[in-house]
Amino acid sequence: MEGRIINLSRFCTDDGPGIRTTVFLKGCPLRCLWCHNPESQSRESEILYSAEKCVGCTSCEAVCPGGCHSFREGVHLFQRGECIGCGGCAKLCPTEALTLSGKTVDSAEIFREVARDAVFYRESGGGVTVSGGEPLAQPAFTADLLRLCRENGIGTAVETCGFAGEAAVETVLPFCDFILFDVKETDPERHRRFTGVPLEPILKTLHRIAERKIPFRLRLPVIPGFNDREEHFAKAKELAAGFSSCQGLEVMPYHSLGQYKYVQLGKPYLCADVKEPTPETIARWRAAVEG
Ligand code: SF4
Ligand code: SF4
Repeated sequence: MEGRIINLSRFCTDDGPGIRTTVFLKGCPLRCLWCHNPESQSRESEILYSAEKCVGCTSCEAVCPGGCHSFREGVHLFQRGECIGCGGCAKLCPTEALTLSGKTVDSAEIFREVARDAVFYRESGGGVTVSGGEPLAQPAFTADLLRLCRENGIGTAVETCGFAGEAAVETVLPFCDFILFDVKETDPERHRRFTGVPLEPILKTLHRIAERKIPFRLRLPVIPGFNDREEHFAKAKELAAGFSSCQGLEVMPYHSLGQYKYVQLGKPYLCADVKEPTPETIARWRAAVEG
């Protein structure tokens, strides 16, 4: 089964129980204003360009079928308008000033790769987590990869925002041992404003997970100036309390590490003024959801 991924990350300890390999899929239906993985939004391959690494060798200009690279008085101009994401320029770039994000893979091929660490999963109670991007946006690929893991005794998990139709959700859930469920905002109007999509389908997915009694944790990113409100954390706590299979809430600090990726992608960053929350702020919201 074909899928679009960004990369794999081995030996993860924050994406579910034990030691895990996390598979990051490419493509997400949400457009969170603060997104720190902008390269995961589009399903299409994209070039990330770091101008400070360019040594002006002009290999990219020679190979590009779209005429995206040009040089004027020694200055490299990259105009991605005609880019088809072929990756030819990134392959030839000697300094990794150009890198390609996104590739098409086969679920069996990815399974073989993640299965190499099976001994670590077994000994730690870990497994494989499909994250994103959004795993439910590629239901057939996600389900097939998780099925292969299951059939070979490897634990399975997804990290999801829950925004997907019933068919996609029901394709993936039968193969999940555990779910990390991101809740960005609990107020419907704010949710739509901050993420670009309605909250209702997300809550429906959460109910489907609970009906199947799949253990899950709610993940709550703290974005100062957006969702750091008493009501939001109180509602999230109330939501979690309504499900017997909920294994707790995780308060996750916003971080600004993704800002440079916007520069590399040539996209505007809409949250440049947002500061990372202080340890005191995080402690406060942790106390609010745990107390
Ligand atoms: S990925 Fe292909 S089309 Fe895009 S800039 Fe590089 S060579 Fe040109
Ligand atoms: S191939 Fe890389 S180093 Fe060479 S000109 Fe292009 S971006 Fe610069």
